[in-house]
Amino acid sequence: MGNWEDNIRKVTPYVPGEQPKKENIIKLNTNENPYPPAPGVVRALKEMDTDLLRRYPDPSAALLVDAIAENYGLKPGQVFVGVGSDDVLAMAFLTCFNSDKPILFPDITYSFYDVWAKLLRIPYEVIPLDKDFRLVSSDYKRENGGIVFPNPNAPTGELKPLDEVEEIIKSNRDVIVIVDEAYIDFGGESALPLLKSYDNLLIAQTFSKSRSMAGMRIGYLLGNEKLIKFINDCKYSFNSYTMNQTAIVMGVEAVKDREYFLSCREKIMDTREWAKKEFLNLGFSFGDSMSNFLFVTHPSYDAEELFEDLRDAGIYVRHFKKPERIKNYLRITIGTREEMERLFDFLKQYKNKQ
Ligand code: PMP
Repeated sequence: MGNWEDNIRKVTPYVPGEQPKKENIIKLNTNENPYPPAPGVVRALKEMDTDLLRRYPDPSAALLVDAIAENYGLKPGQVFVGVGSDDVLAMAFLTCFNSDKPILFPDITYSFYDVWAKLLRIPYEVIPLDKDFRLVSSDYKRENGGIVFPNPNAPTGELKPLDEVEEIIKSNRDVIVIVDEAYIDFGGESALPLLKSYDNLLIAQTFSKSRSMAGMRIGYLLGNEKLIKFINDCKYSFNSYTMNQTAIVMGVEAVKDREYFLSCREKIMDTREWAKKEFLNLGFSFGDSMSNFLFVTHPSYDAEELFEDLRDAGIYVRHFKKPERIKNYLRITIGTREEMERLFDFLKQYKNKQ
């Protein structure tokens, strides 16, 4: 037997939230949108010309890039699209984090960042959030090879005001700062206006949350043209055809329907604000989330036990075992009002059981 294993790249992969096969469950574990995609998407999918599938799709996905650029008042050269924000973030890590100095990200954050860093052999340093799970801008004023953080952060939901985001970008002009705005559409202020002033800013967004299209896999980066060109060069050195024909067409339909997008996110934000009150009444505490999820803890409950009891009752939420200081928290996606009512019915009974 040879030692070929010594030459293998070994990684500990990211573990995505569970996608249960069971019917009739309440799925509040992966921050999906409880409402369907825009009516135009549904229509276009039914009318899709399948003969187009014989051909390779447009490698530049120009239709979708143009639609996104128009939506944000940017030039098409400022937009990079990919297969969900996981794909565009991975490509951004590969392109932008090419230094021997460590990149910086928070200790409690999206748990894919350290996986990409390890996979791509990018040195990194985690910066602890403060005791209230807040990201402190001044902690990011140290030598580094790049910075990435979500705003709002995940899984805490905490939103950083734009001036504090700007402070980080401004004090790190020699590296790329990636602001992962997967959840920005639920009441946050995007860093988009800062693109004019800072060429080291790169914003990542997704169709998976506010546009109800997690299953279609569309994500995008917004940045200056030079930087987007560098990212495209890496993409074309890896896989030219990342976006399939269906995703390009459906993505355009989703972007076009601004009214539907606004009404969906309004409903989710209303349900979230109501849910905050319900959780408080039941003795839970949480930070002031501005995303489509709440990160809650209860002084009398063991989070892992509650997670399992909820699961047995057909209600799926997310529990992270690491890091230690979030072990007693649950991340709960905002579903429809009816789904949340069923969650609260369960929790009210659960309280009586203790
Ligand atoms: N960033 C953050 C902070 C997330 O929580 C997620 C969702 N798992 C993503 C990026 C990736 O989302 P997607 O690949 O579906 O666009």
